[in-house]
Amino acid sequence: MKRFFFLITFFVAFQGYSQIIDLSIVRLDSISFSERLDMIITKHKKDSLSQVYMTENWDATTFNPYKDYRQTYPFEISFSDSVYTSPITRKKVVTSRYGWRNRRAHKGIDIDLVTGDDVMAMFDGKVRAVRTFQGLGKTVVVRHANGLETVYAHLSKQIVKVNDTVTKGTIIGKGGNTGNSRGSHLHLIVSYRGVYINPEYLFEFTEENKIRSQELWVTRRWVTPYLHSSKKQSTIIIATSEAEALQNEEKQKKIYIVKKGDTLSKIANRHHTSITAICKENSIKKTSTLRIGQQLVVNK
Ligand SMILES: [Zn+2]
Repeated sequence: MKRFFFLITFFVAFQGYSQIIDLSIVRLDSISFSERLDMIITKHKKDSLSQVYMTENWDATTFNPYKDYRQTYPFEISFSDSVYTSPITRKKVVTSRYGWRNRRAHKGIDIDLVTGDDVMAMFDGKVRAVRTFQGLGKTVVVRHANGLETVYAHLSKQIVKVNDTVTKGTIIGKGGNTGNSRGSHLHLIVSYRGVYINPEYLFEFTEENKIRSQELWVTRRWVTPYLHSSKKQSTIIIATSEAEALQNEEKQKKIYIVKKGDTLSKIANRHHTSITAICKENSIKKTSTLRIGQQLVVNK
C-alpha cells in the first residue's frame, strides 16, 4: 500500500493566541485529514489551557485561591501519562480515605509514613504555596499543567520554595506529624480549580502507581465527601466521556419509597449511607418527619 507523508504547517488563532502549529507527519491512509485536524485542534486547546492553568488564580498566600470560582459538572481531567510517581518511597498503606469521618469531611487520603521520609511530587509542575495551614501543618501545594493541584500536608520539613519548578519525583519535603495529625502520615489532597476530588477516583494507591484513565470525567459524586466513607473504598466506576459521566451519576442514584416504621437511620443503614448524605441529597433536616410513600434519593 502506498503511504503518503506530508509535513504541513498550520496557523490557528485560539483564545487570542496566535501560534504556529506543527502538524507533523500526516498519514492519509490511516487517518482522515479532518480527524487529524480535530486531534491537532484538541491538542492545541489543551496546550492553551495548560498555559491558563499555570497562571490563573496564582496565589502563594492562600490555600484555595479559587474561592470565587464556580465549577460546572461534569468536568474533564486529562493526563499525559498512565502512571504517577509515588509521593513516598515505601509501600503505600492507606490509613484513612477521602470521605465522611467523625461527622466531618476528610478531603484527602492518609498514607502511612515515618517522620523524615522523603515526600515527592507526583507529577511535573510548579510550586504554588509553601506554608503552614491550620490543621494541615507544614504544607506544599504543587500546580500541574492539567489544572490539578496536589497538596502534601503534615510535613516535618518543606524543601522547595514558591514558584520552583519541580519534576515528578522531586523531593518537596519530609514526612511528619505537624498540624492536626495523630501519628506521622502524609495527608494528600488532590484538587482541581478549588474542588477536592476523591484521590481514589483518579489514582490506584498500589505499587503500580496507576492513573485510572488518561481521560477522566469527574462528577459531583467524586467531589462530595459525605457520599464516601473514610473507612471503606467506594465502588469506583470511572467515566471517560461526558455522556458516560452523566449516565454513571444516574446509575448510582436510587429512589427509595418510605414505608411504615422507617427512620432515617434505618434507611441509611440499609443503604450503607449516612443520615447526613440522605438529608443533603434530599434537602431535608435530620429532624424532618418522614411520610409513608415519600420518595427519597439514596446513593448506591
Ligand atoms: Zn488526612
